[in-house]
Amino acid sequence: MKIAVPKEIKNHEYRVALTPSGARELVGRGHVVTVQAGAGEGAGFRDGDYEAAGARLEADVAKVWSEAELILKVKEPQPEEVARLSRGQTLFTYLHLAAEEPLTRGLMESGATCIAYETITAPQGGLPLLAPMSTVAGRMAVQAGAHSLEKAQGGAGVLLPGVPGVAPARVTVIGGGVVGENAARMALGLGAEVTVLDKSIPRLEALDDRYQGRMKTVFSTADALEEAVRESDLIIGAVLVPGAAAPKLITRAMLADMKPGSVLVDVAIDQGGCFETSKPTTHAEPTYVVDGVVHYCVANMPGAVARTSTQALTNATMPFVTALADKGWKQALADDSHFAAGLNVHEGQVTYQAVADAFDLEY
Ligand code: NAD
Repeated sequence: MKIAVPKEIKNHEYRVALTPSGARELVGRGHVVTVQAGAGEGAGFRDGDYEAAGARLEADVAKVWSEAELILKVKEPQPEEVARLSRGQTLFTYLHLAAEEPLTRGLMESGATCIAYETITAPQGGLPLLAPMSTVAGRMAVQAGAHSLEKAQGGAGVLLPGVPGVAPARVTVIGGGVVGENAARMALGLGAEVTVLDKSIPRLEALDDRYQGRMKTVFSTADALEEAVRESDLIIGAVLVPGAAAPKLITRAMLADMKPGSVLVDVAIDQGGCFETSKPTTHAEPTYVVDGVVHYCVANMPGAVARTSTQALTNATMPFVTALADKGWKQALADDSHFAAGLNVHEGQVTYQAVADAFDLEY
């Protein structure tokens, strides 16, 4: 199959949809892989690395798109990319259509077959192509929080692990899912005192079991949140209510009870944020201060570690990419109902219920 990997054009997107090792795998299976010149640069992969893997390089973006049967991307296509798509082509990428009506309509008009990373499911539950980015964001949240606690960043001047004779910082993670567990694990590794709040008893049980009581697990109630606000140096928001905006668990009034210079990292900001005072920020200006509390609310945290994120993403997408390339989309999806859950748009029709419902479209 003819597979294309365009350079990402969304603002500040440095990831690429395929690593040179991924290209080598596909070429080894007899596929033709065309990579747009410079596509891997932001993630630290040189054109020569792709060539050495057996991929073709193409400088002309129009050719990259027009000659492909399967197009691999990271971010949702931008308007000029949608215009390049045509019937008979398969697009495999993050789409997040339920929040994007013009994009949905553009993809319908293109006639292409569009499969979204984020709606593919796994037999054991969960979303296998979202999880790697949640893992990255959870681990980064502690790095970001530790940095924000430094005096020069407006923080209280607290070192997470403390030192002998000085107590470690207290870190509370709200939501013990993929982001939350990874954040808690990093904070624990750095020597902080860690508490995880969740509404799900099975999640709290799993964490307690896995970490053998080294982190405190607490059922998330208004009381528990108030205590977290009073006691914590760093609070990480990592809740997710599927299909809904994040609940506002810490209100502005509650900030008054926080220690001056304490830090809120709102990883759930891409779902609206779980703190009332959160607003999306960028890697260029990641933090701001409200009532003496530092807020870090970057909506695309994995973008800052493009190389790690690219490798983590492609590890997860490769089995699906290989199936698409070897069998074609129809057979690959027919063979795997979890993969089939990724089909969002096909030949002008929305094929994913939640997207159709969001815009009153025929399903
Ligand atoms: P997840 O489903 O694995 O975990 C969410 C957890 O929140 C679940 O365990 C759930 O029980 C818990 N929860 C729900 N309501 C709660 C409440 N009121 N109190 C306490 N816990 C509650 O989801 P995830 O993959 O960990 O993602 C978490 C959030 O991080 C999502 O909003 C996701 O979109 C976001 N995210 C952001 C970035 C970024 O760059 N900012 C990157 C990746 C993920």
